[in-house]
This record gives sequence, structure tokens and C-alpha cells, in this order.
Amino acid sequence: MVNLNYEYTQHLIGTTVSLMLFEPNETAVQAVFQTIKMLEDKLTVNRSSSEVMSINLAAGHHPVIVSRSVFSLIEQAQKISLYFNSCFNFAIGPLVKLWKIGFNGYQVPSAKLIREKLLLIDPKNIELDANTYSVFLRKPGMEIDLGAIAKGYIADVVKSILHQHQVYKGIINLGGNVLTLGSSLTDGNGYWHIGLRKPFSTNGKLSGIIKVKDKSVVTSGIYERFFIQNYRLYHHLLNPQTGYPLNNELESVTIISDSSLEGDIYSTIFYGWGVDKSRQYLQKHQNLSAIFLLKNKTAILVNPDNFIFQQIDTQYQIKT
Ligand code: FAD
Ligand code: MG
Ligand code: MG
Repeated sequence: MVNLNYEYTQHLIGTTVSLMLFEPNETAVQAVFQTIKMLEDKLTVNRSSSEVMSINLAAGHHPVIVSRSVFSLIEQAQKISLYFNSCFNFAIGPLVKLWKIGFNGYQVPSAKLIREKLLLIDPKNIELDANTYSVFLRKPGMEIDLGAIAKGYIADVVKSILHQHQVYKGIINLGGNVLTLGSSLTDGNGYWHIGLRKPFSTNGKLSGIIKVKDKSVVTSGIYERFFIQNYRLYHHLLNPQTGYPLNNELESVTIISDSSLEGDIYSTIFYGWGVDKSRQYLQKHQNLSAIFLLKNKTAILVNPDNFIFQQIDTQYQIKT
């Protein structure tokens, strides 16, 4: 049996990025980490300068021309935001920056400040010009935040770089966005085994293992970026209608899909929709699968033909 012995790790995009390969390949690995750094430099809103920051800093003043790749990601983010506006909105930046959940200085903001920021998050106020690749935020104070899709986009780019270097098997993990390449050599049936964290477990316990081949496994949850104040939990998935964290029955949503971008998009949207509405959507999209972990310790598997779920934590009641 061949082992996945070669692991390469760096701290980038605010998380641990790791590549696991069956054979060493320094050239491929270097190309991957260089590209992730380059994309982080373009997309980050956590530093004073980047392409996205140039757009944000020019809000209300003038359009900003960006690179083709950034423009294309923004174009997709806008399409999704206009369509799924009630739970997915890439103009959410002013609220993300106000709450600072997961960052130093997090706080429960005043209702007045939240109301003010809600006036600045309409994705219709973002003008894109596909001829010049320019982006204009019409109101001062508006800010783009690609945190809900950028890791997925980057994971797919990493996969294509590995393919360019003839690496067709392995695991890409961008802090919870896992992309598996091809079939595994360690499992007799070719499945990759991806651990699904038990929400809020402090010692890395798993609720189960997801077995897939050549699929992306992306989780959005409320148990990594959150804080507790006056016995209330505030997490980073915000409701664009209210400006407060989304409040529903879910602790996490995991999407099993072909691309990681798709996984990132739907993990965020389905968290916002909750189980029932997401299930209706999934019935019409059989190539997408989801695992919902509920606060009441139920695990709901939808479209389970695309993966195998091996339960680890017996506290969960599994339903389909
Ligand atoms: P997802 O569910 O995929 O997305 C949630 C994130 O999307 C939120 O954190 C918020 O940013 C945004 N969001 C919240 N509500 C909505 C909504 N309704 N619609 C759309 N988007 C929403 N983290 C650090 O701690 N330090 C860093 O320096 C840092 N740099 C980063 C640089 C880049 C280029 C990227 C892509 C991420 C970086 N991060 C950093 C992490 C980032 O801040 C987010 O926490 C992360 O992208 C969330 O991903 P997720 O998969 O956990 O959640
Ligand atoms: Mg994500
Ligand atoms: Mg997401």
C-alpha cells in the first residue's frame, strides 16, 4: 500500500494550507504556494493594500481596474449575490469589518451602527465593466468581501497547477476547504477519507468520515470563528437582511461537489437557507451533496450517492 507521506504546510490566507502527495514534488509545491501568496495579495481585505482593497478604498469616488482573474471572481460573486441576496452577499464587507468576528477587537456593535452599515451592502450598487475590468462601489463606505468564495476559487486554481505539473493524486486543504485529486492509493476502493469535525469539540473530535473520489468537500460552520458574550454565541456567517449572525438550527453545512468554488458558494448559501429550503434545491441538483449537522445532534445527508459517510460520534442520529 502506498502512503500519503509527503505533506507540505504553510500559514496563508489566515489559515493552515496543506498539500498531501504520494510522491515528493518540490517544483509543483513551490508553484502552488507562490500562486496562493499571489492570489492572497490580490484578494485580501485584511491588509492595507490589495486589488480588492483598492476597490474598497475608492468606494464612492472612482472605478478601479483590476486583473482579469480578480474581475472574473467578482463577476461571479455579484451574480450569486444578486440571485441569493437574502443569504449570500459579497458586499457584506462593512458588516464583517464592524463585527470583526475571528479577529482582534470583535464586538457586538450597536443597533444604530448595524442599521447604518446595512445601507452600504446592496450588491446592485456595485458597477462592473467587463470591457475594462473595472469595478466601482457607488457609495463611500461600501466594501467587497470575498471571504465566502475565495478559498474555493483558490483551491480550484491549486488543482490546475498540480495538474500542470503532472500531479493527479493528492489532497489540497485550505483550512476546511478540502479538494481531493483523483482516487486514493491508500484505500482499496480508491476513496479519500476526509474527517468531518464535531462542532465545538475542543480536542479535534470527528463526527464522521466522508469518503469521496475526485471531489471537493467544503464546510461552513459556526464553531471556528465565533465569540460568546452574555451567554450568546455570535458567529461569522451574517444575515444580510438583519446585519446579525444568521440564527437557525444548524452548526455546520458540508458540501460535496466537483469544484471547490461551488462547494464554498453552496456551503454559505445553504447555511443561510437551513435544511428544508436547501433540500428542495438539492433535489434538482443531484450532482451536489450536503451534510447538515444540527444543533440537536442530527446529521442529515442529502444526495448521499456521491459519497460514503462513516459515523464516528455515536451521539449523532443520522437521517437522509
Ligand atoms: P464561509 O462560509 O465560506 O464564508 C464566511 C465568510 O464570508 C465570513 O467570514 C465573511 O468574511 C463572509 N461572509 C459573512 N457573511 C456572509 C454572507 N451572508 N454572504 C457572503 N459572505 C459572507 N483570516 C484571518 O484571520 N486573517 C487573515 O489575514 C485572513 N486573510 C485572508 C485572505 C484571503 C484572501 C482570504 C480568502 C481569507 C482570509 N482570511 C483571513 C479568512 C477570512 O477572513 C474568512 O474567515 C474565511 O474566508 C471564511 O471562510 P469559511 O470557509 O470559514 O467560511
Ligand atoms: Mg469558505
Ligand atoms: Mg463559503
